[in-house]
Amino acid sequence: MAGFFKSLLQRFTKPDIDWDDLEAALIAGDLGPRLSLQIVEDLQAQQRKLHGADIVKVAREHVRKILPNSVTPMSKLDGKPKVVLVIGVNGTGKTTSTAKLAYLLNKGGAKVVLAAADTFRAAAVEQLEVWSQRLNIPMVKGPPNGDPASVCFEAYDLAQRTQADFLLCDTAGRLHNKHNLMEELKKIHRILGRKDETSPHEVLLVVDATTGANALQQAREFHKIIPLTGVIVTKLDGSGKGGVLVNIQQELGVPTRYIGLGEKVEEFQRFDPNRFVEELL
Ligand code: GDP
Repeated sequence: MAGFFKSLLQRFTKPDIDWDDLEAALIAGDLGPRLSLQIVEDLQAQQRKLHGADIVKVAREHVRKILPNSVTPMSKLDGKPKVVLVIGVNGTGKTTSTAKLAYLLNKGGAKVVLAAADTFRAAAVEQLEVWSQRLNIPMVKGPPNGDPASVCFEAYDLAQRTQADFLLCDTAGRLHNKHNLMEELKKIHRILGRKDETSPHEVLLVVDATTGANALQQAREFHKIIPLTGVIVTKLDGSGKGGVLVNIQQELGVPTRYIGLGEKVEEFQRFDPNRFVEELL
């Protein structure tokens, strides 16, 4: 995605801007119809000859206003594990991101426990197990097709007993069975709530930047069922334009907390709005 603004500069070299063309380019950058129109109208109101650099300047200002100044780091709780539910559609990079987040928190000195709560997909459990062994981070799994909520429940016990700082739960993401999936997530939410009234403390939705507007739609649907506290945007190293995270923030008020920039465990970082606007977008 790096270089969406640069592509605007290259495309709009002449001072006579074709407004429809510009609006289409902004929408193609996943900034969404609303923000794209706002940027176009702002530029039109300037009533002077505009160049690519002016477009980028105005677009950048708009994006900067929507995004928060900084993003709160994942803080520890006092004397109990913080529960982080990682949710999202299969294939978005949920399991990989759960492992990457565990690695990042662990590297920062925190003690982490993983819960393999996608019990319907053996491959997902195996994948997380490989990460758990590689990163030397304990993981709790259940029997195949077992109850995901009870895996999280057990994992919470382990996290508590071992005085872990974070419990990261990798959940299922079968969108073809949306009703069951949502019920399952609600149950995990409820069961963990029994352990601790405010649990899960964080609900992070993983979206794939290369899916553009679909990612916004997924955020809308999940947010309706469980209020999201943050988004993890993956595959920003690929063809994803990144505008979707601006769109999610604008429409749902949910901040991006982490971004994935590759398949390797260390290719993952805390989202930095300034860097994103200045360098990545
Ligand atoms: P899940 O089904 O949502 O759990 O998705 P996985 O974690 O299995 O990831 C699906 C694929 O996306 C895997 O091949 C990952 O290596 C890849 N992936 C995940 N995050 C990133 C990322 O930030 N960049 C790239 N290029 N690939 C990623």
